[in-house]
Parts: sequence; C-alpha cells; structure tokens
Amino acid sequence: MFLSRRSIRASSSLLSTAARSTRNASSLVYIEHKDGKLNDSVLHAVTAAKQVKGDLNAIIIGTEEEVGKVTEEVKRIDGFSKIYTASSPDYAHGLAEAITPVLTKFLDSSNPTTHLFSAHTAVNKDLFPRLSGSLNVSMIADIISLSHTDGPQEETVFKRPIYAGNAILEIKTTKEKDRVRVVTVRTTAFDKATLGEGNGAEVVQVEAVGSSSPTKHLSEELTISSRPDLSSAPRVVSGGRALKSAEQFNGVMEPLADSLSAAIGASRAAVDAGYADNSLQVGQTGKVVAPELYMAVGISGAIQHLAGMKESKMIVAINKDPDAPIFQVADHGLVADLFTAVPELTEKIKAAKA
Ligand SMILES: Cc1cc2nc3c(=O)[nH]c(=O)nc-3n(C[C@H](O)[C@H](O)[C@H](O)COP(=O)(O)OP(=O)(O)OC[C@H]3O[C@@H](n4cnc5c(N)ncnc54)[C@H](O)[C@@H]3O)c2cc1C
Repeated sequence: MFLSRRSIRASSSLLSTAARSTRNASSLVYIEHKDGKLNDSVLHAVTAAKQVKGDLNAIIIGTEEEVGKVTEEVKRIDGFSKIYTASSPDYAHGLAEAITPVLTKFLDSSNPTTHLFSAHTAVNKDLFPRLSGSLNVSMIADIISLSHTDGPQEETVFKRPIYAGNAILEIKTTKEKDRVRVVTVRTTAFDKATLGEGNGAEVVQVEAVGSSSPTKHLSEELTISSRPDLSSAPRVVSGGRALKSAEQFNGVMEPLADSLSAAIGASRAAVDAGYADNSLQVGQTGKVVAPELYMAVGISGAIQHLAGMKESKMIVAINKDPDAPIFQVADHGLVADLFTAVPELTEKIKAAKA
C-alpha cells in the first residue's frame, strides 16, 4: 500500500494518540548507581514516584556486573512491582550519550510508564534533558512537590523553585500532552524511601540498544574525602570569603567540622577565590542541602547562597556585621569576629563531648 507523506503523518499521529490514551498512570524510577552501588539519592525519588497512582517500577542500566549488584539492592526497596534491567559494556560509566537510546526505546514502547523519576543530581542533570529532547517531551526539573489525579482527566501538578527560590512555579501536565513526564526531584524536599525486605519485585530484562555517539569515557578524577557527603550530611559548616585564604579556611573550618562530625561547605566567593574546592559550593549554582544543622561562617547570605541552604532545620550564623542578610534566616546568630569566635566555639564543643 502506498501512503503519501501526509497520510503517514496522519496515521502516526493517530497511533501516538491511541498509544497515549491507553497508557495507564504509573511511575518508573531510573536507578542511578556508581560502579554497581546504588546512589542514595534514588531513595528520595522513590518517595516522590510513590505519589503517582498506579504501578511503581524501576529501571537499572549498566554493565552486567553492575546491574546484578544494584538489582539486589533495589529488590530491598518497598513498592516496586517490576525491576527492568538493560546491560551492555557500552553502559559502563553511565554516559548520557550511551544511556539515552535504550531509555528512549523503552519509554516509546507500548505502555512502560507515564512518569519517569530520578534525583536532581549531576548525572541526571546531564541525562534527563537529553532524554526529554530525544522523546520530544518537556523536562520537569528539580521538583519540590507533586500531586497526581488519576481517571479520565488524569493530571499531575508539579512545583519547582525558580529565581533562586524566590518564586515557585506550578506545572500542570496531562498524559494527553506529555506521554511521559520526565522529572528530576530535589532530594531535600522528599524523605528517603526505606530499604527493607522489598516486596518480591519481578526482574524483567530489556533489550540493550547501542549508541552511535562518538563520546567516550577517558578518565575521572575524584575528590576523595573522609568527611560525610555534603549533600546528605546531617551537619554542615560552611565558610565564606571572610576566611581570606585557603590556609585560613582549612585552619578554621576543619577543626570546627571535626568537632561536629560535619561536612564542609563554602560560598561561591570562597570557591572562586580558591579557598575551597568547587565541589563544596552551596547555593543556586552549587549543591542544595537541608541538614539538621547548617553553620554559616563569614558568609553574607546572598540570595544565591540562601537558595542552597535555607531549608536547613537549624541555621547558625557567625558574622561581624549585625546587618548581614544571613541573620534574617538564622535561628541563632553570633555577631563576632570569626577568627576568635570559631576556635573558641570549637574548643567548647570538644570539651562538652569529652
Ligand atoms: C548567577 C549567580 C549564581 C550564584 N551562585 C552562588 C552559589 O551557588 N553559592 C553562593 O554562595 N553564591 C553564589 N553566587 C554569589 C553570591 O551572589 C555572593 O556573591 C556570594 O554568595 C558571597 O559570598 P560570601 O558571603 O562568602 O562573601 P561576601 O558577600 O563578601 O560576604 C562575606 C561576609 O563575611 C563577613 N565577614 C568579613 N570578615 C569577617 C570576620 N573576620 N568575621 C566574621 N564575619 C566576617 C562580612 O560581614 C560579610 O557578611 C551567585 C551569584 C550569581 C550572580
């Protein structure tokens, strides 16, 4: 049968409309991992995904060895009906260029899911926009809440902060318009799903798809630290430009962090000046943290910094300027010179613990 271009377009749009309307509401969690170890941030995405009615499934992509190890961990997460797996040596290092084709093919198959979730991590900031481009759907990034209504008028409403957290954007989506909602989740806004016995999820293999991308993984340099991970530490002490040099930054902040078993963070000014490593930056263009305790030392409290820490449960600020904006968000403030106040405080904490 000969079909004109116009009729091909018409029939494919009919097909896609039919495919869309037959999709049942469900969610799928993309399982981020590193060398076969589950990235804990996934557990926050699972909590968000559970708010969508319908089935909850997971997809793991990696080398055969990685997939085998991660599957065992994922089986312990409650709520998954199915764990889809795709393995190939091409998927080593989780390059977005290699993973996108297999995810695209899977998500374009008959009824895989209406929502794809993962955490708003560096890896997914690379993968998810590429994937949504490949699927030709919107990218819904860094959400802090969602509500889902099932039924004929199926609709999901997402909220995400914009303008460094000064406004909240509400995004309404329907499966008619977006056959898959591609969503990353702000980890600090959702509790972690717990690892337990799991509920006997069925493991289903998905066909691997090769990539024609010329991008290759050459090497990686990691900043190894024995301190707690900044993004998930229960206590964070951050230093700002006031520390004046890398030596003073380390000399003042490290003993304070040791005394509290805290992670170290920094303002962008401290990072740009070379006092602290770029991986320590907290804020709009750095990491978003919400620890039990956040201590800002010699940090003014610019909105771009607040965007990364203002959800912390308790904020303590030490600044010599009583009008510094950081005091407007602080639960406890100390107007003092940090070079005398911090060593004194560190000694007192150590003495109290002894
Ligand atoms: C697009 C964009 C994105 C950005 N993203 C980020 C981001 O992700 N994170 C971020 O932090 N910033 C970010 N910034 C930069 C931000 O606007 C501020 O410039 C930066 O946060 C200031 O860092 P600071 O508070 O360390 O330095 P300053 O603003 O210089 O403040 C230093 C503070 O230390 C106090 N002080 C000085 N000496 C002492 C002392 N001896 N004892 C006690 N206190 C003292 C001062 O009173 C002052 O309040 C961004 C900016 C832009 C435009």
